[in-house]
Amino acid sequence: MADWIDRQLRRRGISDERVLAAMRRVPRERFVPPTQRAHAHDDTALSLAHGQTISQPYVVALTCELLALDGSERVLDVGTGSGYAAAVLAELAASVVTIERIPELARGASSALRDAGHPEVEVIVGDGSLGVPAQAPFGGIAVAAASPRVPPALWAQLATGGRIVLPLGDEHEQRLVALERTAGGPRYHGSTTVRFVPLVSGEGPGR
Ligand code: SAH
Repeated sequence: MADWIDRQLRRRGISDERVLAAMRRVPRERFVPPTQRAHAHDDTALSLAHGQTISQPYVVALTCELLALDGSERVLDVGTGSGYAAAVLAELAASVVTIERIPELARGASSALRDAGHPEVEVIVGDGSLGVPAQAPFGGIAVAAASPRVPPALWAQLATGGRIVLPLGDEHEQRLVALERTAGGPRYHGSTTVRFVPLVSGEGPGR
């Protein structure tokens, strides 16, 4: 039943058929806490443990569309959370490495990714604002936590021609922005107002 795909995604302007097919294939219910399974396809973000959230399906689809992946890329996903966005990215890219600062969430995401048919996604525990230098450059970087500016390490790990999609702003309001790394500097691809949890760097509070 793909009604929700039309209602929540297509009608709002998601038009990349690869993204729509990926959203249809990934079982969102596997990434949602058991108590919230009935709401797996609701048009909203849902709560995870540790005060974190699994992003609204539309926001995941928009992020993927803005990344403009052709399937050949190695992708970095910052802020694994439930692992849902990583699974959708795994449908669209050659490989995905995802990084989460909260070890319990990373563990839960690993097992959900296995259940959902994406055991190949590598889940790393660490500070995603520093990226994963050992595996750079990335053909795309998706960030699921807001920051006031593009973390320099992430920009440095983006391949030329690759895009980073991230929510830029403070805790109240952010814009989901897509920046392509070109030889001449960043090229801007579009944005919309969104709301994400903050990107916590270093030994911040929030556990
Ligand atoms: N993509 C996720 C959304 C998770 S919400 C999903 O589909 O479910 C954002 C996540 O970013 C939270 O789990 C939070 O713990 C994590 N996060 C915040 N700052 C981080 C950082 N510096 N490094 C890694 N993860 C971070």
